[in-house]
Order: sequence, then structure tokens, then C-alpha cells
Amino acid sequence: MQHDRHAGAHSTGPGAGHHPAVEQYLETILELEEFGIPPMRARLVDRLGVSAPAVSETVKRLEREGYLTLDSDRVLHLTESGREYATAVLRRHRLAELLLVDVLKVPWSQVHEEACRLEHAISDNLESHLVKLLGDPGACPHGNPIPGSANVVDPGPLQPLASVPSGTPCVVRRIDEHLQTQLDHMRELEQARLLPGQRVTVSEGDDDLIVLNVDGVTVALERIVATEVYVSL
Ligand SMILES: [Zn+2]
Repeated sequence: MQHDRHAGAHSTGPGAGHHPAVEQYLETILELEEFGIPPMRARLVDRLGVSAPAVSETVKRLEREGYLTLDSDRVLHLTESGREYATAVLRRHRLAELLLVDVLKVPWSQVHEEACRLEHAISDNLESHLVKLLGDPGACPHGNPIPGSANVVDPGPLQPLASVPSGTPCVVRRIDEHLQTQLDHMRELEQARLLPGQRVTVSEGDDDLIVLNVDGVTVALERIVATEVYVSL
């Protein structure tokens, strides 16, 4: 079905008639910002799995439409309307993940991918029902804040699990959206119970693997995976 881009008072949010792929660009820029990674076109190529020319073309289009600007260091910046749009998509993504885990009992490791599809189909009206049903949750099942919620809890300073020194206990807080796209790694985290709120201690590590103690169980995790699991000390 074709949407009317100019329908409704708000034409900058999901449902404004943009292709899901375009919404994914804005959302990804916001995610990169969240984790302190400068959003650049090359990162969108990595994260969205599309070609560099395709990214350049869509970025140009989003720039023309007033959603973002590109500075002299090639870093992308969301405009006010771009940020509003991206925030709405990300909020729906995280609400959808919670709906899938809490209500539909879809395994934790699988919900990101499903939510990537659902987020583009959630209207303002459905979103308000979701917020009510789920009790205005502050975080998604991967520990990431739900923008606009009154219940967001600041866990304090976070760092990648990969950078925690041996012998230091820490608590898993957030799983990067990028890691969530990798189903095998998400299953590993699920099986090892490395979910938000879990206490762990790094016992040893080398360049490739880190070994963790999770409630008395020894778990080996690839270092590359541990760079996208954020913890607090
Ligand atoms: Zn997600």
C-alpha cells in the first residue's frame, strides 16, 4: 500500500511515507551516536550491509530532505527533524522487542531482527497502546533506553566488557544494536545468560577470547563480541 507522505499533522515520523530502508539509516545514525561512535557513511555500509554507492545516494537524499547534514570531516549529523524521526523509529524498535519477549515469548536472541521489521509498521496510535500495555518501560530487553519513557534508568558510566581488567566484577548493561544483528553471537550470550543485569567477572583473556565467570560457570567469549557488550563496574 502506498502511504500519503503528507497525510496527518506529523510527516516526520514513521508512517510518514518513507521506505523502511530510509528509516533504518536515520535509526542507525542515532544508534551510533548512542554508543559514542561518530556516524560516517562507511559505518552505515558496515551496519546496513549495503554498498558504498547506495549509502552515498541515500545520504544525499536524506540531506536534500532536511534530515541530516554532512560536515567537513565526513561525519553525519541529524537535523532536528531527522533526530525526531530517528528517535521515533528507535523507540518503536525497542518497544516491539519488549512486546516480542514479554508477551509473545519469542527468544531474546531473536527479537531484534523481528523488531526491525515491525518498527516501520507501528502507528502513533499502536505505539501508545504498546506503552500502556508494557507499562512505559525504560529499557528494551537488551538494556538499551527507550527514548521518551519516564522510566529510563541511567546505569552510570559504561565500558565494553572487552576492556574490563581480569579479576574485576562487573554487571552487563547494554547489548549494542549491531551485535543484535548477529544471531549466532546472540544465542551464545543467551545460553551463557549474559543478559542485562547479570553479574560477571573476567577471569582471563588473550587477543581472541576472554574467559568469564558467570554465577560460577566458566564461559569463553570472543573478544570481538565482548567489545559490543557494555558493562558497569
Ligand atoms: Zn534491537
